[in-house]
Amino acid sequence: MQLFSPSLYNASTTRRIALSRTDAEVSPAYRELSPWRLWRDGSRGQKLCLFGGWLVLLVLCVALGVGMVIWRWSGIPLEFGGVTVYLTVYPTLLICLLLTLTLGWWWGALPAYCATLTLALYAGMPLAWALLFALSNPLGLAIMAIGYQAIAMRRDLRGISAMLFYVQLSFVACVFSSAGALIWSYTNHYERAALLPIWQGWWLGAFLQSVLLAGPAMALLWPRVERWLNAHPQLMRKMHTNSRQAVLGLLASVTLGVLVYGFVTIELADQQAHLTTLAHAMNVMRQTMWIFYWVFVAIVLFIAFFGYQLFAHWQQSQDRLLAELEKLATTDGLTDLLNRRAADLRLKAEWQRTRRSRHSAAMVLLDIDHFKQINDSYGHPGGDAALRHLANVMRSVMREVDFAARYGGEEFLIVLPDTGEHGAYAFAERLRQQVAATPAQFGAQAIAMKISLGVAVVRDDDASYERWFSRADRALYCAKQGGRNRTSLDDTR
Ligand code: GH3
Ligand code: MG
Ligand code: MG
Repeated sequence: MQLFSPSLYNASTTRRIALSRTDAEVSPAYRELSPWRLWRDGSRGQKLCLFGGWLVLLVLCVALGVGMVIWRWSGIPLEFGGVTVYLTVYPTLLICLLLTLTLGWWWGALPAYCATLTLALYAGMPLAWALLFALSNPLGLAIMAIGYQAIAMRRDLRGISAMLFYVQLSFVACVFSSAGALIWSYTNHYERAALLPIWQGWWLGAFLQSVLLAGPAMALLWPRVERWLNAHPQLMRKMHTNSRQAVLGLLASVTLGVLVYGFVTIELADQQAHLTTLAHAMNVMRQTMWIFYWVFVAIVLFIAFFGYQLFAHWQQSQDRLLAELEKLATTDGLTDLLNRRAADLRLKAEWQRTRRSRHSAAMVLLDIDHFKQINDSYGHPGGDAALRHLANVMRSVMREVDFAARYGGEEFLIVLPDTGEHGAYAFAERLRQQVAATPAQFGAQAIAMKISLGVAVVRDDDASYERWFSRADRALYCAKQGGRNRTSLDDTR
Protein backbone atom coordinates (compact mmCIF):
# COMPACT_ATOMS: atom_id res chain seq x y z
CA MET A 1 0.00 0.00 0.00
CA GLN A 2 1.35 3.38 -0.95
CA LEU A 3 0.84 5.77 1.93
CA PHE A 4 3.10 8.56 0.83
CA SER A 5 3.54 9.64 -2.72
CA PRO A 6 7.24 9.48 -3.55
CA SER A 7 7.39 13.07 -4.74
CA LEU A 8 5.77 14.35 -1.56
CA TYR A 9 8.79 13.88 0.57
CA ASN A 10 11.43 16.03 -1.04
CA ALA A 11 9.35 18.88 -2.33
CA SER A 12 6.58 19.52 0.13
CA THR A 13 8.09 18.35 3.42
CA THR A 14 10.88 20.86 3.43
CA ARG A 15 8.70 23.66 2.07
CA ARG A 16 6.01 23.24 4.71
CA ILE A 17 8.49 23.25 7.56
CA ALA A 18 10.06 26.40 6.21
CA LEU A 19 6.62 28.01 5.85
CA SER A 20 5.64 27.39 9.43
CA ARG A 21 8.95 28.77 10.63
CA THR A 22 8.45 32.08 8.82
CA ASP A 23 4.93 32.33 10.25
CA ALA A 24 6.30 31.94 13.74
CA GLU A 25 8.79 34.72 13.05
CA VAL A 26 6.06 37.07 11.85
CA SER A 27 4.09 36.85 15.11
CA PRO A 28 6.49 37.21 18.02
CA ALA A 29 5.40 35.89 21.39
CA TYR A 30 3.96 38.34 23.94
CA ARG A 31 6.51 39.46 26.52
CA GLU A 32 6.51 42.00 29.31
CA LEU A 33 9.21 44.13 30.85
CA SER A 34 9.91 42.71 34.31
CA PRO A 35 10.12 45.42 37.01
CA TRP A 36 12.19 42.99 39.11
CA ARG A 37 14.73 42.30 36.44
CA LEU A 38 14.93 45.98 35.55
CA TRP A 39 15.67 46.73 39.21
CA ARG A 40 18.27 43.96 39.47
CA ASP A 41 19.95 43.95 36.05
CA GLY A 42 19.11 47.31 34.49
CA SER A 43 21.71 50.05 34.12
CA ARG A 44 21.40 53.25 36.19
CA GLY A 45 20.17 55.17 33.16
CA GLN A 46 17.54 52.56 32.31
CA LYS A 47 16.24 52.46 35.87
CA LEU A 48 16.11 56.23 36.15
CA CYS A 49 14.41 56.60 32.79
CA LEU A 50 11.84 53.81 33.13
CA PHE A 51 11.00 53.90 36.83
CA GLY A 52 11.27 57.72 36.89
CA GLY A 53 9.14 58.12 33.77
CA TRP A 54 6.61 55.65 35.11
CA LEU A 55 6.35 57.50 38.46
CA VAL A 56 5.79 60.79 36.64
CA LEU A 57 3.02 59.12 34.59
CA LEU A 58 1.52 57.64 37.77
CA VAL A 59 1.30 61.11 39.34
CA LEU A 60 -0.17 62.46 36.10
CA CYS A 61 -2.75 59.67 36.09
CA VAL A 62 -3.81 60.48 39.67
CA ALA A 63 -4.02 64.20 38.83
CA LEU A 64 -6.11 63.51 35.72
CA GLY A 65 -8.37 61.26 37.78
CA VAL A 66 -9.05 64.02 40.29
CA GLY A 67 -9.34 66.52 37.39
CA MET A 68 -12.03 64.36 35.88
CA VAL A 69 -14.14 64.75 39.03
CA ILE A 70 -13.44 68.49 39.33
CA TRP A 71 -14.10 69.34 35.67
CA ARG A 72 -16.78 66.68 35.14
CA TRP A 73 -15.46 64.98 31.99
CA SER A 74 -18.48 62.80 31.99
CA GLY A 75 -21.84 62.77 30.28
CA ILE A 76 -20.65 64.49 27.10
CA PRO A 77 -23.56 63.96 24.64
CA LEU A 78 -22.68 62.35 21.30
CA GLU A 79 -24.83 61.21 18.39
CA PHE A 80 -23.89 57.62 17.58
CA GLY A 81 -25.68 55.40 15.06
CA GLY A 82 -29.02 57.20 15.51
CA VAL A 83 -28.70 57.21 19.29
CA THR A 84 -27.53 59.86 21.74
CA VAL A 85 -24.98 58.53 24.16
CA TYR A 86 -23.33 60.38 27.03
CA LEU A 87 -19.62 59.76 26.80
CA THR A 88 -17.30 59.75 29.77
CA VAL A 89 -13.70 60.54 28.96
CA TYR A 90 -11.02 59.25 31.29
CA PRO A 91 -7.52 60.16 30.01
CA THR A 92 -5.90 58.14 32.80
CA LEU A 93 -7.17 54.97 31.19
CA LEU A 94 -5.55 55.98 27.90
CA ILE A 95 -2.12 56.35 29.54
CA CYS A 96 -2.53 53.08 31.46
CA LEU A 97 -3.62 51.23 28.33
CA LEU A 98 -0.50 52.39 26.50
CA LEU A 99 1.66 51.35 29.46
CA THR A 100 0.01 47.90 29.48
CA LEU A 101 0.39 47.40 25.74
CA THR A 102 4.01 48.49 25.63
CA LEU A 103 5.61 47.44 28.94
CA GLY A 104 3.15 45.00 30.48
CA TRP A 105 0.10 44.67 32.71
CA TRP A 106 1.65 45.71 36.04
CA TRP A 107 2.99 48.93 34.53
CA GLY A 108 -0.50 50.00 33.48
CA ALA A 109 -2.62 48.38 36.20
CA LEU A 110 -0.91 50.06 39.18
CA PRO A 111 -1.35 53.68 38.04
CA ALA A 112 -4.91 52.83 36.95
CA TYR A 113 -5.70 51.45 40.40
CA CYS A 114 -4.09 54.37 42.28
CA ALA A 115 -5.74 57.01 40.10
CA THR A 116 -9.22 55.49 40.26
CA LEU A 117 -8.94 54.91 44.00
CA THR A 118 -7.89 58.54 44.61
CA LEU A 119 -10.64 59.81 42.33
CA ALA A 120 -13.25 57.77 44.14
CA LEU A 121 -12.12 58.85 47.60
CA TYR A 122 -11.93 62.46 46.44
CA ALA A 123 -15.50 62.19 45.18
CA GLY A 124 -16.55 60.90 48.60
CA MET A 125 -17.02 57.20 47.90
CA PRO A 126 -16.76 55.01 51.04
CA LEU A 127 -13.32 53.32 51.30
CA ALA A 128 -14.59 49.73 50.97
CA TRP A 129 -16.51 50.58 47.79
CA ALA A 130 -13.61 52.65 46.46
CA LEU A 131 -11.20 49.71 46.86
CA LEU A 132 -13.55 47.55 44.79
CA PHE A 133 -14.37 50.31 42.33
CA ALA A 134 -10.69 50.86 41.51
CA LEU A 135 -10.31 47.22 40.43
CA SER A 136 -12.42 47.62 37.28
CA ASN A 137 -9.78 49.33 35.14
CA PRO A 138 -6.96 46.87 35.97
CA LEU A 139 -9.48 44.15 35.10
CA GLY A 140 -10.06 45.65 31.65
CA LEU A 141 -6.31 46.02 31.15
CA ALA A 142 -5.87 42.36 32.11
CA ILE A 143 -8.15 41.42 29.19
CA MET A 144 -5.80 43.25 26.82
CA ALA A 145 -2.76 41.46 28.28
CA ILE A 146 -4.45 38.04 28.18
CA GLY A 147 -5.56 38.66 24.59
CA TYR A 148 -2.05 39.39 23.38
CA GLN A 149 -0.72 36.44 25.37
CA ALA A 150 -3.25 34.08 23.78
CA ILE A 151 -2.70 35.20 20.21
CA ALA A 152 0.70 36.53 19.27
CA MET A 153 -0.50 39.48 17.23
CA ARG A 154 1.45 42.54 16.13
CA ARG A 155 0.94 45.37 18.56
CA ASP A 156 1.64 48.15 16.02
CA LEU A 157 -1.85 47.60 14.50
CA ARG A 158 -0.40 47.57 10.99
CA GLY A 159 -2.44 45.17 8.93
CA ILE A 160 -6.12 44.35 8.99
CA SER A 161 -5.82 41.33 11.34
CA ALA A 162 -3.86 43.28 13.94
CA MET A 163 -6.37 46.13 13.77
CA LEU A 164 -9.49 43.93 14.00
CA PHE A 165 -7.97 42.02 16.88
CA TYR A 166 -7.21 45.22 18.75
CA VAL A 167 -10.65 46.77 18.20
CA GLN A 168 -12.51 43.66 19.31
CA LEU A 169 -10.30 43.04 22.30
CA SER A 170 -10.75 46.70 23.26
CA PHE A 171 -14.51 46.26 23.29
CA VAL A 172 -14.41 43.37 25.76
CA ALA A 173 -11.80 45.15 27.88
CA CYS A 174 -13.97 48.29 28.00
CA VAL A 175 -17.01 46.32 29.14
CA PHE A 176 -14.94 45.03 32.07
CA SER A 177 -13.44 48.46 32.73
CA SER A 178 -16.86 50.06 32.87
CA ALA A 179 -18.12 47.73 35.61
CA GLY A 180 -17.18 50.58 37.95
CA ALA A 181 -20.00 52.70 36.49
CA LEU A 182 -22.54 50.65 38.39
CA ILE A 183 -20.72 51.11 41.72
CA TRP A 184 -20.29 54.80 40.95
CA SER A 185 -24.01 55.25 40.26
CA TYR A 186 -24.97 53.22 43.30
CA THR A 187 -22.71 55.05 45.77
CA ASN A 188 -23.75 58.43 44.32
CA HIS A 189 -27.42 57.47 44.78
CA TYR A 190 -28.29 58.13 41.15
CA GLU A 191 -31.82 57.24 40.24
CA ARG A 192 -32.10 53.83 38.60
CA ALA A 193 -33.23 55.29 35.29
CA ALA A 194 -29.86 57.03 34.93
CA LEU A 195 -27.86 53.80 35.18
CA LEU A 196 -28.10 52.71 31.55
CA PRO A 197 -26.92 55.95 29.91
CA ILE A 198 -24.13 56.30 32.49
CA TRP A 199 -22.88 52.77 31.99
CA GLN A 200 -23.09 52.97 28.21
CA GLY A 201 -21.28 56.28 28.28
CA TRP A 202 -18.49 54.72 30.33
CA TRP A 203 -17.77 51.72 28.14
CA LEU A 204 -18.32 53.59 24.89
CA GLY A 205 -16.11 56.46 26.01
CA ALA A 206 -13.36 54.06 27.00
CA PHE A 207 -13.81 52.13 23.75
CA LEU A 208 -13.63 55.18 21.47
CA GLN A 209 -10.66 56.49 23.43
CA SER A 210 -8.91 53.17 23.09
CA VAL A 211 -9.59 52.80 19.35
CA LEU A 212 -9.26 56.40 18.18
CA LEU A 213 -6.42 57.57 20.44
CA ALA A 214 -4.54 54.60 21.90
CA GLY A 215 -4.65 52.70 18.57
CA PRO A 216 -2.84 55.35 16.47
CA ALA A 217 -0.48 56.01 19.40
CA MET A 218 0.46 52.31 19.42
CA ALA A 219 1.07 52.36 15.66
CA LEU A 220 3.60 55.14 16.22
CA LEU A 221 5.11 53.93 19.48
CA TRP A 222 5.27 50.16 19.13
CA PRO A 223 8.02 49.71 16.50
CA ARG A 224 10.41 51.75 18.63
CA VAL A 225 9.38 50.10 21.90
CA GLU A 226 9.61 46.64 20.33
CA ARG A 227 13.13 47.33 19.06
CA TRP A 228 14.18 48.40 22.54
CA LEU A 229 12.54 45.40 24.23
CA ASN A 230 14.11 42.97 21.75
CA ALA A 231 17.50 44.50 22.41
CA HIS A 232 17.13 43.87 26.17
CA PRO A 233 15.90 40.27 26.51
CA GLN A 234 17.53 39.98 29.94
CA LEU A 235 15.02 42.51 31.33
CA MET A 236 11.94 40.64 30.10
CA ARG A 237 9.67 38.60 32.33
CA LYS A 238 9.76 34.86 31.77
CA MET A 239 6.30 33.90 30.49
CA HIS A 240 5.13 30.47 31.61
CA THR A 241 1.60 30.45 30.28
CA ASN A 242 1.15 27.81 27.65
CA SER A 243 -0.82 28.83 24.61
CA ARG A 244 -3.78 26.53 25.31
CA GLN A 245 -4.23 28.06 28.78
CA ALA A 246 -3.97 31.56 27.36
CA VAL A 247 -6.54 30.88 24.62
CA LEU A 248 -8.87 29.34 27.19
CA GLY A 249 -8.39 32.40 29.42
CA LEU A 250 -9.17 34.70 26.52
CA LEU A 251 -12.25 32.79 25.44
CA ALA A 252 -13.53 32.60 29.02
CA SER A 253 -13.05 36.35 29.52
CA VAL A 254 -14.68 37.20 26.20
CA THR A 255 -17.64 34.92 26.87
CA LEU A 256 -18.06 36.32 30.36
CA GLY A 257 -17.70 39.89 29.06
CA VAL A 258 -20.36 39.39 26.41
CA LEU A 259 -22.76 37.65 28.79
CA VAL A 260 -22.31 40.34 31.44
CA TYR A 261 -22.72 43.03 28.80
CA GLY A 262 -25.98 41.55 27.50
CA PHE A 263 -27.41 40.96 30.95
CA VAL A 264 -26.52 44.38 32.37
CA THR A 265 -27.89 46.20 29.32
CA ILE A 266 -31.21 44.38 29.34
CA GLU A 267 -31.54 44.61 33.11
CA LEU A 268 -30.90 48.37 33.12
CA ALA A 269 -33.16 49.02 30.15
CA ASP A 270 -35.84 46.99 31.85
CA GLN A 271 -35.56 49.06 35.01
CA GLN A 272 -35.90 52.24 32.98
CA ALA A 273 -38.94 50.97 31.17
CA HIS A 274 -40.73 50.40 34.46
CA LEU A 275 -39.98 53.83 35.76
CA THR A 276 -40.90 56.11 32.88
CA THR A 277 -43.72 56.93 30.54
CA LEU A 278 -44.52 54.65 27.63
CA ALA A 279 -43.00 57.02 25.09
CA HIS A 280 -39.82 57.26 27.11
CA ALA A 281 -39.72 53.51 27.58
CA MET A 282 -40.08 53.02 23.80
CA ASN A 283 -37.25 55.42 23.22
CA VAL A 284 -35.02 53.63 25.70
CA MET A 285 -35.80 50.29 24.09
CA ARG A 286 -35.07 51.72 20.64
CA GLN A 287 -31.71 53.07 21.79
CA THR A 288 -30.85 49.87 23.57
CA MET A 289 -31.72 47.88 20.47
CA TRP A 290 -29.42 49.96 18.32
CA ILE A 291 -26.54 49.77 20.72
CA PHE A 292 -27.16 46.05 21.01
CA TYR A 293 -27.02 45.79 17.24
CA TRP A 294 -23.61 47.46 17.06
CA VAL A 295 -22.29 45.35 19.87
CA PHE A 296 -23.72 42.30 18.14
CA VAL A 297 -21.81 43.26 15.00
CA ALA A 298 -18.63 43.50 17.04
CA ILE A 299 -19.25 40.13 18.68
CA VAL A 300 -20.03 38.33 15.43
CA LEU A 301 -16.90 39.78 13.87
CA PHE A 302 -14.95 38.78 16.95
CA ILE A 303 -16.15 35.18 16.83
CA ALA A 304 -15.58 34.86 13.08
CA PHE A 305 -12.16 36.42 13.36
CA PHE A 306 -11.01 34.30 16.30
CA GLY A 307 -12.48 31.19 14.76
CA TYR A 308 -10.43 31.85 11.67
CA GLN A 309 -7.28 32.67 13.65
CA LEU A 310 -7.57 29.50 15.71
CA PHE A 311 -8.31 27.43 12.63
CA ALA A 312 -5.29 28.86 10.81
CA HIS A 313 -3.12 28.20 13.85
CA TRP A 314 -4.46 24.66 14.16
CA GLN A 315 -3.93 24.00 10.46
CA GLN A 316 -0.36 25.24 10.69
CA SER A 317 0.46 22.90 13.54
CA GLN A 318 -1.25 20.04 11.69
CA ASP A 319 0.91 20.74 8.64
CA ARG A 320 3.99 20.82 10.81
CA LEU A 321 3.02 17.56 12.48
CA LEU A 322 2.28 15.91 9.15
CA ALA A 323 5.60 17.06 7.76
CA GLU A 324 7.39 15.65 10.80
CA LEU A 325 5.50 12.37 10.52
CA GLU A 326 6.31 12.15 6.84
CA LYS A 327 9.94 12.75 7.62
CA LEU A 328 9.91 10.12 10.37
CA ALA A 329 8.23 7.59 8.12
CA THR A 330 10.59 8.09 5.23
CA THR A 331 13.96 8.90 6.80
CA ASP A 332 16.62 6.73 8.34
CA GLY A 333 17.34 8.10 11.80
CA LEU A 334 21.06 7.34 11.82
CA THR A 335 22.13 8.74 8.45
CA ASP A 336 19.23 11.05 7.53
CA LEU A 337 19.04 9.33 4.14
CA LEU A 338 15.77 7.82 2.88
CA ASN A 339 14.85 4.55 4.55
CA ARG A 340 14.14 1.33 2.73
CA ARG A 341 10.41 1.90 2.51
CA ALA A 342 10.77 5.37 0.97
CA ALA A 343 13.55 4.07 -1.28
CA ASP A 344 11.24 1.38 -2.68
CA LEU A 345 8.60 3.97 -3.51
CA ARG A 346 11.09 6.31 -5.18
CA LEU A 347 12.72 3.40 -6.97
CA LYS A 348 9.42 2.26 -8.39
CA ALA A 349 8.53 5.81 -9.46
CA GLU A 350 11.91 6.24 -11.14
CA TRP A 351 11.58 2.91 -12.90
CA GLN A 352 8.13 3.91 -14.24
CA ARG A 353 9.33 7.34 -15.31
CA THR A 354 12.30 5.85 -17.12
CA ARG A 355 10.14 3.39 -19.03
CA ARG A 356 7.68 6.09 -20.03
CA SER A 357 10.20 8.68 -21.11
CA ARG A 358 12.69 6.15 -22.50
CA HIS A 359 15.47 7.90 -20.65
CA SER A 360 18.10 5.88 -18.89
CA ALA A 361 18.59 5.57 -15.13
CA ALA A 362 21.20 3.75 -13.10
CA MET A 363 21.26 2.24 -9.66
CA VAL A 364 24.34 1.85 -7.47
CA LEU A 365 24.13 -0.61 -4.59
CA LEU A 366 27.01 -0.56 -2.13
CA ASP A 367 28.09 -2.44 0.96
CA ILE A 368 30.93 -1.71 3.39
CA ASP A 369 33.73 -4.26 3.24
CA HIS A 370 34.35 -6.23 6.42
CA PHE A 371 32.12 -3.96 8.41
CA LYS A 372 31.93 -6.53 11.21
CA GLN A 373 35.61 -5.87 11.84
CA ILE A 374 34.92 -2.14 12.21
CA ASN A 375 32.26 -2.94 14.78
CA ASP A 376 34.61 -5.35 16.51
CA SER A 377 37.49 -2.89 16.65
CA TYR A 378 35.66 0.35 17.51
CA GLY A 379 32.45 -0.95 19.05
CA HIS A 380 28.93 -0.27 17.77
CA PRO A 381 29.16 3.51 18.27
CA GLY A 382 32.30 3.48 16.12
CA GLY A 383 30.41 1.50 13.46
CA ASP A 384 27.58 4.04 13.63
CA ALA A 385 30.00 6.92 13.17
CA ALA A 386 31.39 5.14 10.10
CA LEU A 387 27.86 4.74 8.67
CA ARG A 388 27.10 8.44 9.22
CA HIS A 389 30.38 9.41 7.63
CA LEU A 390 29.71 7.22 4.60
CA ALA A 391 26.29 8.89 4.16
CA ASN A 392 27.99 12.30 4.19
CA VAL A 393 30.53 11.23 1.59
CA MET A 394 27.70 9.90 -0.56
CA ARG A 395 25.85 13.21 -0.30
CA SER A 396 28.98 15.12 -1.22
CA VAL A 397 29.46 13.28 -4.52
CA MET A 398 25.78 13.04 -5.56
CA ARG A 399 23.98 15.47 -7.86
CA GLU A 400 20.79 17.15 -6.68
CA VAL A 401 18.59 14.95 -8.85
CA ASP A 402 20.10 11.73 -7.46
CA PHE A 403 18.70 10.16 -4.34
CA ALA A 404 20.26 7.87 -1.77
CA ALA A 405 18.86 5.51 0.82
CA ARG A 406 20.10 3.24 3.56
CA TYR A 407 18.73 -0.02 2.32
CA GLY A 408 19.94 -2.37 5.03
CA GLY A 409 22.38 -2.34 7.99
CA GLU A 410 25.43 -1.19 6.06
CA GLU A 411 24.06 -1.45 2.58
CA PHE A 412 23.22 1.70 0.64
CA LEU A 413 21.52 2.53 -2.61
CA ILE A 414 21.92 5.51 -4.91
CA VAL A 415 19.71 6.13 -7.94
CA LEU A 416 21.08 8.26 -10.75
CA PRO A 417 18.34 9.50 -13.11
CA ASP A 418 19.26 10.17 -16.76
CA THR A 419 22.55 8.35 -16.38
CA GLY A 420 23.90 5.56 -18.60
CA GLU A 421 26.37 2.77 -17.91
CA HIS A 422 29.40 4.91 -18.48
CA GLY A 423 28.35 7.74 -16.21
CA ALA A 424 27.13 5.40 -13.47
CA TYR A 425 30.35 3.42 -13.46
CA ALA A 426 32.43 6.61 -13.30
CA PHE A 427 30.26 7.87 -10.43
CA ALA A 428 30.62 4.60 -8.50
CA GLU A 429 34.37 4.62 -8.90
CA ARG A 430 34.60 8.24 -7.77
CA LEU A 431 32.57 7.42 -4.69
CA ARG A 432 34.63 4.31 -3.92
CA GLN A 433 37.88 6.30 -4.13
CA GLN A 434 36.48 9.13 -2.06
CA VAL A 435 35.38 6.72 0.69
CA ALA A 436 38.78 5.02 0.73
CA ALA A 437 40.53 8.39 0.87
CA THR A 438 38.56 9.92 3.75
CA PRO A 439 38.40 7.90 6.97
CA ALA A 440 35.58 8.51 9.43
CA GLN A 441 36.43 10.51 12.56
CA PHE A 442 35.43 8.74 15.78
CA GLY A 443 36.65 10.80 18.70
CA ALA A 444 40.41 10.89 18.28
CA GLN A 445 40.37 7.77 16.11
CA ALA A 446 40.19 7.61 12.33
CA ILE A 447 38.22 4.67 10.93
CA ALA A 448 39.32 3.72 7.45
CA MET A 449 36.84 1.82 5.33
CA LYS A 450 36.33 0.49 1.87
CA ILE A 451 33.23 -0.29 -0.09
CA SER A 452 32.14 -2.60 -2.88
CA LEU A 453 29.62 -1.41 -5.44
CA GLY A 454 27.25 -2.98 -7.95
CA VAL A 455 25.86 -0.90 -10.83
CA ALA A 456 22.81 -1.71 -12.97
CA VAL A 457 21.14 0.44 -15.64
CA VAL A 458 17.38 0.08 -16.30
CA ARG A 459 16.69 -2.21 -19.22
CA ASP A 460 13.63 -2.49 -21.43
CA ASP A 461 13.12 -6.07 -20.42
CA ASP A 462 13.15 -5.36 -16.66
CA ALA A 463 9.64 -6.58 -15.79
CA SER A 464 9.63 -4.70 -12.48
CA TYR A 465 11.80 -2.39 -10.42
CA GLU A 466 12.61 -5.41 -8.23
CA ARG A 467 14.21 -6.99 -11.25
CA TRP A 468 16.33 -3.88 -11.77
CA PHE A 469 17.32 -4.04 -8.11
CA SER A 470 18.23 -7.71 -8.20
CA ARG A 471 20.61 -7.07 -11.10
CA ALA A 472 22.37 -4.38 -9.06
CA ASP A 473 22.49 -6.82 -6.13
CA ARG A 474 24.05 -9.45 -8.33
CA ALA A 475 26.66 -6.97 -9.52
CA LEU A 476 27.46 -6.14 -5.90
CA TYR A 477 27.87 -9.83 -5.16
CA CYS A 478 30.30 -10.07 -8.07
CA ALA A 479 32.29 -7.11 -6.68
CA LYS A 480 32.54 -8.87 -3.33
CA GLN A 481 33.50 -12.12 -4.99
CA GLY A 482 36.04 -10.33 -7.16
CA GLY A 483 38.00 -9.24 -4.08
CA ARG A 484 36.01 -6.26 -2.64
CA ASN A 485 36.90 -2.52 -2.85
CA ARG A 486 35.75 -2.46 -6.46
CA THR A 487 32.83 -1.63 -8.74
CA SER A 488 31.11 -4.24 -10.81
CA LEU A 489 28.73 -3.46 -13.65
CA ASP A 490 25.79 -5.74 -14.35
CA ASP A 491 26.04 -6.69 -17.99
CA THR A 492 23.96 -9.85 -18.05
CA ARG A 493 21.60 -10.12 -20.95
P1 GH3 B 1 31.38 -7.99 3.76
O1 GH3 B 1 32.64 -7.38 3.33
O2 GH3 B 1 31.17 -9.36 3.21
O3 GH3 B 1 30.24 -7.13 3.57
O4 GH3 B 1 31.61 -8.22 5.32
P2 GH3 B 1 30.81 -7.55 6.47
O5 GH3 B 1 31.57 -7.73 7.73
O6 GH3 B 1 30.54 -6.15 6.16
O7 GH3 B 1 29.54 -8.42 6.50
P3 GH3 B 1 28.05 -8.00 6.48
O8 GH3 B 1 27.80 -7.10 5.33
O9 GH3 B 1 27.23 -9.22 6.57
O10 GH3 B 1 28.01 -7.19 7.83
C1 GH3 B 1 26.87 -6.63 8.33
C2 GH3 B 1 27.21 -6.10 9.72
O11 GH3 B 1 26.75 -4.77 9.85
C3 GH3 B 1 26.58 -6.91 10.78
C4 GH3 B 1 25.96 -5.94 11.71
O12 GH3 B 1 26.44 -6.12 13.00
C5 GH3 B 1 26.42 -4.59 11.22
N1 GH3 B 1 25.41 -3.62 11.32
C6 GH3 B 1 24.19 -3.62 10.73
N2 GH3 B 1 23.52 -2.49 11.06
C7 GH3 B 1 24.32 -1.75 11.87
C8 GH3 B 1 24.18 -0.51 12.53
O13 GH3 B 1 23.16 0.19 12.43
N3 GH3 B 1 25.21 -0.03 13.26
C9 GH3 B 1 26.35 -0.77 13.38
N4 GH3 B 1 27.35 -0.27 14.11
N5 GH3 B 1 26.51 -1.96 12.79
C10 GH3 B 1 25.53 -2.46 12.04
MG1 MG C 1 29.50 -5.51 4.53
MG1 MG D 1 26.07 -6.26 4.31
